[in-house]
Amino acid sequence: MKRIAHVIVDVPTMQTDQPFSYLIPDHLASLVDVGIRVEVPFGNGNRHIQGFVVAIEEHQDGVDDNQLKPLIDVLDLAPVLNDELLLLAQDMAKTTYSFKITCLQTMLPSVMRSTYNKYLVVKEAIPEIIDEEVFLGLARRDWEEIKNSPYLAELHKLRQNGQIDIQYEVTTKNKIKTMSVVSSNKSPSEFIEIKQNLRKNAHQKHRLVDFFIEHTVGEFTIKELVDIHDLSRQVIREAVDLGWLIQREEEVYRDPYKHKSFKPDQALILNDEQQSALDKVSASMDERVSDVFLLEGITGSGKTEVYLQAIAKAVEKGETAIMLVPEISLTPQTVERFKRRFGDKVAVLHSGLSQGEKYDEWRKIERKEAQVVVGARSAVFAPLENIGLIIIDEEHETSYKQDESPRYHARDLAIWRGDYHKCPVLLGSATPSLESRARAQKDVYKLLKLTKRASENAILPTVEVVDMRQEMMEGTGGSFSRTLMSGIENRLEKKEQIVLLLNRRGYSSFIMCRDCGYVLPCPNCDISLTLHMDTKTMKCHYCGHEEAIPNKCPVCDSRKIRYYGTGTQKVEEELQDLLPQARILRMDVDTTRKKGSHERLLEKFGTHDADILLGTQMIAKGLDFPNVTLVGVLNADTALNLPDFRASERTFQLLTQVSGRAGRGDKQGEVVIQTFNPKNYAIVLATSQDYDKFYQHEMQLRHRGNYPPYYFTVQLVVSHEEEVVAAKKMYEIVVLLKDYLSNKAIILGPTPKSVARVNKRYYYQTVLKYRFEPRLEEALQKILQDSQVDIRKGLRVSIDTEPQHFI
Ligand code: ADP
Ligand code: ZN
Ligand code: ZN
Repeated sequence: MKRIAHVIVDVPTMQTDQPFSYLIPDHLASLVDVGIRVEVPFGNGNRHIQGFVVAIEEHQDGVDDNQLKPLIDVLDLAPVLNDELLLLAQDMAKTTYSFKITCLQTMLPSVMRSTYNKYLVVKEAIPEIIDEEVFLGLARRDWEEIKNSPYLAELHKLRQNGQIDIQYEVTTKNKIKTMSVVSSNKSPSEFIEIKQNLRKNAHQKHRLVDFFIEHTVGEFTIKELVDIHDLSRQVIREAVDLGWLIQREEEVYRDPYKHKSFKPDQALILNDEQQSALDKVSASMDERVSDVFLLEGITGSGKTEVYLQAIAKAVEKGETAIMLVPEISLTPQTVERFKRRFGDKVAVLHSGLSQGEKYDEWRKIERKEAQVVVGARSAVFAPLENIGLIIIDEEHETSYKQDESPRYHARDLAIWRGDYHKCPVLLGSATPSLESRARAQKDVYKLLKLTKRASENAILPTVEVVDMRQEMMEGTGGSFSRTLMSGIENRLEKKEQIVLLLNRRGYSSFIMCRDCGYVLPCPNCDISLTLHMDTKTMKCHYCGHEEAIPNKCPVCDSRKIRYYGTGTQKVEEELQDLLPQARILRMDVDTTRKKGSHERLLEKFGTHDADILLGTQMIAKGLDFPNVTLVGVLNADTALNLPDFRASERTFQLLTQVSGRAGRGDKQGEVVIQTFNPKNYAIVLATSQDYDKFYQHEMQLRHRGNYPPYYFTVQLVVSHEEEVVAAKKMYEIVVLLKDYLSNKAIILGPTPKSVARVNKRYYYQTVLKYRFEPRLEEALQKILQDSQVDIRKGLRVSIDTEPQHFI
């Protein structure tokens, strides 16, 4: 009997997007299992690469399997993907038009992605000069160290002659962290005897023996013996060598929260609306039906409390639960609420963790030591079994869609897993996406509503819209209207706090020459550079290009170079000038780049070490500071002007979210929104937090414009270093599409993308809108197939179903 492993290999191309067969050698027979990672030889050169075993086939002897190559090694001791996740990967590859290997790898912590080392090895005698200069007399050299050698041509010849060869090795970086622990190997009486034979001045040994006479049981880390009990490493090592102690390596988790203690809290008594929502979700959990619920609840209505209690039900029943939150709102406050309620049962996954920490949280889940997973988008792949509930908070957030391959939406995968586990999925938001709300309207999802703020005295804040055109006409310069300014001064006097939102980053958007109008562009992209005062450089936000700030115009030599636009940094300076006594915290991409800085800023604000929190979108979500009584939006229009059919939806969501930060305690909150479009419906309806009215209005516009949720969308993008090549390919794709689609499908394009050149590549796009196209999938698969040939010509083609950004 021969066993054959079907392996998806780590070569993301169309030709290799299928399992390859490998013989399982006898010495690996007991180790190879479905879902395990293996090292396999691949291609003519038999280079060693990583793969995933997706199936195992038993073969009768005598079958012709001589040409099958054997597996080289296993990379895991137990499967890293279970049957459910393997199946999900397969479906995801199909629905997102991506490769199976990419999907499999996406499901695992990034440390488990292999890296490959390439070596040159000597096979037969080689010329002396090569031996000395390249190989340094060794039999093997790391390619990285010699790839710039002047002897490459010679090496190439030697390889052709078979005198040297290339070797590949797979390395995985998923290192487990261990800690040395020791325990006593002698009885107290034996130790007393040892002590009697010790020399008098062997002080360290006496201390060690005394310690273990008292501590006959238990394990002690070497670190604690040294740090706390004052023993030297040297004496501990000697004691181990002499057989007095036993040393062992214990696995430890890198727990980012280990220095924090979380005070346990208890479930609150729910109000009627919360209770009714919880009852409906619990009923589905008990009956094991995969219903999808949409919990539409205004900010502060107690959605999180409903989540916590629903999860508690799952945990009580011995089931597990996943709670997804947007990366940006995975604040210490959110984590703390879960840790306080569920203690050690919670694993947290987010991008603020180091790779090692992420891997350790993942192992905690995989070993069933955590029943509740709280995390951002990729936590939807948490290797939990027996899932009883999946929750997606702020379900409208675009960050749930991954914007690189595989372009999956966490909501779709959550619903897939809900189906698999026969458990409900709960989507929550104060401002649901129109897609989800429309599904609830048609009873595809079950709608649950929370209409009041939960905490006893908290009421919705009052909102005032300030017309900035009027303000400018009446002579107010700068970023602050009179209304907002007097509100800020008033709060400072009362020792209350203020949150200010500015929807942009950087010091100013660009610099321009006042004499000739020249704007400094990025040399790689079709966009102007942004000034950053903290690094004193000009930066490109697309490709990262950076250069010095010019002190004269590169075109006309004029020195009248001026800054235009506003950014958080500039506003901070402006505000500090106006209010020298105010303590201001700035939170944007620049001040939160370092690990943990986001947390530190929020902590400082929470302890009232600052009066004003000024920041970009990242301050709009999830924060719950009872002392904040004023929220100001400096420029409500930035998102409105984007050429995207979701611009109004985004603006409405942002304004509603940020307004929700005011008046969460028992003091009345106030919101001031500054805008140049005071009559715009998204702004008007956000001031009254009237989601339902916004939904009705926006749906009419979507209907008229043939946009989602009435139509499905697909975005195709082609890029190449030469503009004509990209454009030509895009035209070819459109011609192909027309062959497959009915005349009801709407094809927009080809057009250059709104930033047509990024990082020296030109981008062309086509957007497809359709309702029912039975041959679309076939067409897109064909485009994906064909794109493989074009990759060699430097063309990149991407297919994005239901894209979240059109620019
Ligand atoms: P949301 O997630 O909808 O924004 P939260 O769950 O954060 O709302 O609740 C807002 C505030 O109301 C929190 O301070 C929370 O402790 C409080 N709260 C929630 N439910 C109740 C309740 N049933 N009784 C009293 N306070 C509540
Ligand atoms: Zn100039
Ligand atoms: Zn650039």
